[in-house]
Amino acid sequence: MQRRTFLGMLLVSPALIKADSKVFHSNVYLREDQRKSFYSVQKKLELVKKYIGFGNFNIISFDDILKISARVSKIGKFSKEELDFIEEIFYEDPSRYGFYGSRTMPSLTSKIDKSEVIKIPRTGHYLFKGDPLDSYTKAKRDVGSSLILTSGVRGIPKQMNLFFNKLKSTKENLTLAAHSLAPPAYSYHSLGDFDVGKKGWGYKNFTVSFVRTKEFWRLRRLPYISMRYTINNKDGVRFEPWHVKII
Ligand SMILES: [Zn+2]
Repeated sequence: MQRRTFLGMLLVSPALIKADSKVFHSNVYLREDQRKSFYSVQKKLELVKKYIGFGNFNIISFDDILKISARVSKIGKFSKEELDFIEEIFYEDPSRYGFYGSRTMPSLTSKIDKSEVIKIPRTGHYLFKGDPLDSYTKAKRDVGSSLILTSGVRGIPKQMNLFFNKLKSTKENLTLAAHSLAPPAYSYHSLGDFDVGKKGWGYKNFTVSFVRTKEFWRLRRLPYISMRYTINNKDGVRFEPWHVKII
C-alpha cells in the first residue's frame, strides 16, 4: 500500500470522523428577543433569492438586497428590528458560540466586484479570476471532467442565507450551525475558496462520503490546492474534504 493511501485511510478512520462530528463548545442559542427578526429575515432572503435567481444571488451585495426588498411588495422593506438583528449577528464575535475562524468581510456593505468574477457555465456559481479560476481549470484538467464546482464566490447575503437556513434547521442553535457553516462575515468563499464534488453525487458531495471518491484522492495529490477545514481544525468547523483552499 502506498504511504499516501495509508495516511489517507488513517485520516478518514471512522473513529476520527465520529470525533470530528462532535461539537465541543457548549450550545449557544439565539435569544428569545432575536427569534422574530431571525425568522422574518430568513424568509426575506429566501424571497429575494427566488426573485433574482440562484446565480445572481451568489454575488449580490447587502445594499442591493435592501433596494430590491423595498421595491418588491411581496418581499417588503427590512424593518429597524430586522436590520438591528442582522448587524448584531454580523459584527459580534462568534467565538462566544464556538466559531474561531478569521473575519473575511470587514463590513456588512462589502461588495463583490463583478469585474473580478466569472460565471462558470452550467453550475450557477462564480469564481474569482486569477488564482481561483486558474486552480479550478487546472484541477479539472488533472482530476478529470467528473470534477464539478458545487459552490464558488459567495457575497455576504449568500453566506447569511446559508447560515440562517442552517440556523433554522438546528432550531436556533448557533453553535451547531457554525460547526457546519461559517457565520456571514467569516466565509473564505468571499475571498477565493470554493467547493468541488463528483458529478452526479448531489448532496453526498457535502458529506464525508466525498473522501471515498477517486476525485477526492486525485485532488489531494495536486500541489496547488489544499483543504481548508481538516479534521479537528482550529476554526471549530467540521471536516470538509470538499472545500478547496488555494495555495
Ligand atoms: Zn466551502
